[in-house]
Amino acid sequence: MTTDILIVGGGIAGLSAAAALAPHASVTLLESEDALGYHASGRSAAMFLRDYGNDVVRALNYASAEHHETAGGGMLSDRGMMMVSRADQRDDFKSEHTAFGLQEISLTEALSHVPILNTKTCAYAAYRADAYDLDADRLLQVFTADARRAGTSIHTKSPVTEITKSGGLWQVTAGEQIHSATTLINASGAWVDQIAALAGINPLGFQPYRRSIARVPAPDGHDVKTWPFMVGVNDLWYAKPDAGKWIISPSEEDPVDPHDAWAEDMVLAEGLARYEETVTSPVTRLETSWAGLRTFAPDRALVIGRDLTDPSFFWLGGQGGYGFQTAPAASRLTADLLLGRVPELDTTTVAALDPARFA
Ligand SMILES: Cc1cc2nc3c(=O)[nH]c(=O)nc-3n(C[C@H](O)[C@H](O)[C@H](O)COP(=O)(O)OP(=O)(O)OC[C@H]3O[C@@H](n4cnc5c(N)ncnc54)[C@H](O)[C@@H]3O)c2cc1C
Repeated sequence: MTTDILIVGGGIAGLSAAAALAPHASVTLLESEDALGYHASGRSAAMFLRDYGNDVVRALNYASAEHHETAGGGMLSDRGMMMVSRADQRDDFKSEHTAFGLQEISLTEALSHVPILNTKTCAYAAYRADAYDLDADRLLQVFTADARRAGTSIHTKSPVTEITKSGGLWQVTAGEQIHSATTLINASGAWVDQIAALAGINPLGFQPYRRSIARVPAPDGHDVKTWPFMVGVNDLWYAKPDAGKWIISPSEEDPVDPHDAWAEDMVLAEGLARYEETVTSPVTRLETSWAGLRTFAPDRALVIGRDLTDPSFFWLGGQGGYGFQTAPAASRLTADLLLGRVPELDTTTVAALDPARFA
């Protein structure tokens, strides 16, 4: 079957792009797994932090805020963010809390947010109230429903194994089927360079990094639902409430090849030990753990735009640790560029996202 636009990847990137494009073009989406959102998009910490990421990422965060606040009745709920540090980390604490837009607070106030804070090891804290939980599952569902309603043909269990071009059309083999399309969107997450290579397009040097999360019972039986998203300075760990439980991440960035990621015991244990230095309540039991791949371009900004050598190949990659919070603006830009509309984003940001920057 022939379609205008064929999207490879059924995570938040591919599904949000399908939702933005399907009202204006015929769209087919191919996902290799049995379920949508199985890889990175099923494993996030589900936060919306406006001032997380470099300037280009922040421009996408800010441009996505209204969608997160309003779509489907709103995807955000109050969480707050608190950074804590030891006395010897003062300089890093100052630069990091400023970059995140946090205000320094007293340890007494910090304790009112998280009563298990260890004031023997924590010397400084900073806080901002406008950090939010983002309902990642619902965002994925809303984009999927919008895409289907507008006619997107979504195929799971359809691993793309061959991509050729003939007569100006992409011919994409997935399972038993061959799909033809005028434009191919590469939204394949950690596999983004592999899909490019399959299509005969030069890879751009994306690198997937593993990051793990452990879910533990609420510390000392506390009701954690109003506790903030809490981070150790220098990216040593973070923790947040999750449906009455407490999740803790070692915040690792271990470079790996694309694969179905799982948490390494040793990495988790070391991260939990770093977290435990900060609190009075040690972790006694792990309920579950998981890991996902955060895939970055060399300059850690997303890559959104037509390939220089073949404009019918469109990159939508490098979502890193920001794929959910940036999805509304990233998918709108994808539609603007492919439909020939003037982008809503400013020209500097559009250029900074363009794959041409790697030429
Ligand atoms: C621990 C962790 C915490 C995070 N926390 C946050 C957060 O708080 N906020 C936030 O905004 N982001 C967060 N992220 C980042 C976010 O999860 C990712 O940026 C986002 O999910 C990437 O989406 P994607 O669609 O690009 O990739 P994916 O969800 O990985 O989707 C790509 C899809 O392409 C498919 N695919 C690959 N190759 C093929 C092929 N040959 N044929 C067919 N299909 C193929 C894959 O199966 C996959 O489903 C976090 C990530 C991790 C790991």
